[in-house]
Amino acid sequence: MNDYKINTKCIQAGYVPGNGDPRQVPIIQSTTFKYDTSEDMGKLFDLEASGYFYTRLQNPTNDYVAAKIAALEGGTAAMLTSSGQAANFFALFNICECGSHIISSSSIYGGTFNLISVTMAKMGIEVTFVSPDATEEELNAAFRENTKCVFGETIANPALTVLDIEKFAKVAHEHGVPLIVDNTFPTPVNCRPIEWGADIVTHSTTKYMDGHGVAVGGAIVDAGKFDWMAHADKFPGLTTPDESYHGIVYAEKFGKEGAFITKATSQLMRDFGSIQSPQNAFYLNLGLESLHVRMPRHVENAQAVAEFLEKQPQVKHVSYSGLPSDKYYEIAKKYMPNGGCGVVSFEIEGGRAAAEKFMKALKLMSIETHVADARTCCLNPATSTHRQMNEEQLIAAGVPAGLIRVSCGLEDKEDLIADLAQAFATL
Ligand SMILES: *Cc1c(COP(=O)(O)O)cnc(C)c1O
Repeated sequence: MNDYKINTKCIQAGYVPGNGDPRQVPIIQSTTFKYDTSEDMGKLFDLEASGYFYTRLQNPTNDYVAAKIAALEGGTAAMLTSSGQAANFFALFNICECGSHIISSSSIYGGTFNLISVTMAKMGIEVTFVSPDATEEELNAAFRENTKCVFGETIANPALTVLDIEKFAKVAHEHGVPLIVDNTFPTPVNCRPIEWGADIVTHSTTKYMDGHGVAVGGAIVDAGKFDWMAHADKFPGLTTPDESYHGIVYAEKFGKEGAFITKATSQLMRDFGSIQSPQNAFYLNLGLESLHVRMPRHVENAQAVAEFLEKQPQVKHVSYSGLPSDKYYEIAKKYMPNGGCGVVSFEIEGGRAAAEKFMKALKLMSIETHVADARTCCLNPATSTHRQMNEEQLIAAGVPAGLIRVSCGLEDKEDLIADLAQAFATL
């Protein structure tokens, strides 16, 4: 399957039916699995044999879909989680513990910002936020003895900054830690961070991968390239015996290719239980089957909307890396030659009040705390997803009060532009 093009993998990777098996991914709607002997089951508990015993840890439907996502990203192993939040938490907490330190781009999703800066802080995990545009010197300066990873988003939600993946990976590797990239917005159809040096890739599958607004979900993919053993003292969870799992040393037993996901499954899924339901995994797979067809249309619509917005006198600024005027145009061309995603943001004259009035006037586009849906939607982050941030943090995250995020769906672009035009006329 790995020799096929990504369009083919969207359709066929992950689940390969045998003779007489169901053609579509079967939904294994079962909490448990039956065995003939306790010895058979014991081998599963000891991680001596692979198989299923309880859906909180693993389920075949989820694994088929995770395998597809691993193939799309070019990774060696993947797991599904109940949400994108769970995916990012698991990816970080799998290698961090009380006393660890994370370096994160400051331009990230509001929920992830909160997760790292508030909730993980309560667990004794420290963070240094750096600009997504940080130079190598600035990145180097953020490292400490206890730094365990570097985190960023390929295209940040909602600021739409573009991460220089190669630069971030290079610096992370020089300090012996992995780079974790949240690749939710471009999806592997438009960017594959592993090809640029990322070690772990996360997703909110709730977004384009699902693409129809039906199921919240997440995924973690391991590139299988990071050598945990070469930095054994930094990552004891992977390189020393896990007493809660019969003394297994994940990095020894499962190698570079399997250690990270096996540990996340057998420890974090076991203890936190943020499994994706097999039914939702099935919906996710339906979304993945058309991902390569949908992404170019999202990009086409967003490009047209961004070009229209740029010409409006009531618009202060448009962020879309497909616009030659955008700060990230060149870097986006390098990492995403076919375009990034369908999300455009712009700052309206008049701040919060103007943003609210404008959005109320929209007829086709609806106000939603969502992006990456087939239906176009919009949001003012300052009054919704980012309302926990003060003005200073809003500016640092690149989301001023008058910012409106438009997630261009799959409708006709002329209808989208007409809707925006009539809303501007009411101001
Ligand atoms: C939405 C989103 C998340 C969180 O995902 P959920 O599925 O809503 O939990 C994380 N990262 C990015 C970039 C997102 O857009």
